[in-house]
Amino acid sequence: MVKAVVGANWGDEGKGKITDMLAENADIIIRFQGGANAGHTIVNKYGKFALHTLPSGVFYDHTTSIIGNGVALDIEKLFNEIKSITDQNVPMPKILVSDRCQIVMPYHVLFDAYEEERLAGKSFGSTKSGIAPFYSDKYAKIGFQVSELFDEELLKEKVKRVCDLKNVLLEHLYHKPAIDENELLETLHRYRDMVKPYVCDVSAFLDNAIKEGKTILLEGQLGTLKDPDHGIYPMVTSSSTLAGYGAVGAGLPPYEIKQIITVCKAYSSAVGAGAFVSEIFGDEANELRERGGDGGEYGATTHRPRRMGWFDCVASKYGCRLQGTTDVAFTVLDVLGYLDEIPVCVGYELDGEVITDFPVTAKLEKCKPVLKKLPGWKTEIRGIKKYEDLPENCRAYIEFIEGQIGYPITMISNGPGRDDIIYRESPLKK
Ligand code: GDP
Repeated sequence: MVKAVVGANWGDEGKGKITDMLAENADIIIRFQGGANAGHTIVNKYGKFALHTLPSGVFYDHTTSIIGNGVALDIEKLFNEIKSITDQNVPMPKILVSDRCQIVMPYHVLFDAYEEERLAGKSFGSTKSGIAPFYSDKYAKIGFQVSELFDEELLKEKVKRVCDLKNVLLEHLYHKPAIDENELLETLHRYRDMVKPYVCDVSAFLDNAIKEGKTILLEGQLGTLKDPDHGIYPMVTSSSTLAGYGAVGAGLPPYEIKQIITVCKAYSSAVGAGAFVSEIFGDEANELRERGGDGGEYGATTHRPRRMGWFDCVASKYGCRLQGTTDVAFTVLDVLGYLDEIPVCVGYELDGEVITDFPVTAKLEKCKPVLKKLPGWKTEIRGIKKYEDLPENCRAYIEFIEGQIGYPITMISNGPGRDDIIYRESPLKK
């Protein structure tokens, strides 16, 4: 049984917590896209962790954690992350790295920073982790696959070829120091020795696991609106954030993905530039940011303050549709308990008309939110375990949103911990 945990919006919806929670009953957790450019925050018995590369199943000793072929693998960061969790007394997780996974090179990180510098004010708000240069090279067919580290002749030839190309750009476009071929080759030898014990033919491993009836979780990074095809292009990430891509980025048949759990936060937040229709500003935004998440809405990787907004039904309906949602996990609902009234964005006004289908970026920039205010519940809902025990206005909020987005909300998260979860029977669940 393969399940995917993915985001409906801009990321930071709480996928890490949901994956960590579902991992209790899973055998394998696999990252299938993205790199160390975003993080998941997880709170459990060992403490509080920000994971960037490792799947959110590393805290259990019964699970295998896999870095799939679709991931941008920063080997240095992977090892630092393993160390950071084992230093906090988490037992060494069982980790596998796909032999088809490609490697984030030191120059990818530099090119990311140089390009942001060159674009100055017009930059995309990159986290400078080398992700865009990495995926550009992957599709330009000059990336380095993990398997290639073990073929010395090929490696030498490729290092030379790539350095020749990159050094032209470094010298003439960016006016920065050239890459030293020998130094790069040494780095790659070091990477080879580090990653060697973990390298695996992951698609064959997963094929076996499926035959044995194992439970496999695909863990997405970011959310639908950051997808390069279906998101707010060009303010997107460089790999697909959709559950459908899970089949490609892990190496398993698409029809094996039986459950798609799309995580939606009870309000909105976004990082980086780009249209954000239900965005709020000033004191209203500051208060939600400080109360939000678990200790404020700040990036898990970058610590940047997140942009804040009300729940966006238009974006979330679209986000759930593109994921192919079977279940919605509605998270961070406890945070809204301070509000007398809770605005929800139910439509976009575009050229004098109200639309409820999420438009392409150029139109999105012109949209204004149509807000509807729902009554707040003004109480603490953490600790509640049963849906019926939630305050009436809180249930009304959930049910209103479910009606607007049209996908079944079957899980409600009312706190950052593993046990802060309420399961719900949804009338929309087929
Ligand atoms: P991800 O990237 O989708 O995994 O999301 P993040 O980990 O970046 O952001 C979610 C934040 O909200 C983290 O700090 C979580 O600990 C926290 N969180 C997750 N679920 C809940 C919840 O139901 N309530 C509260 N208060 N915090 C939550």
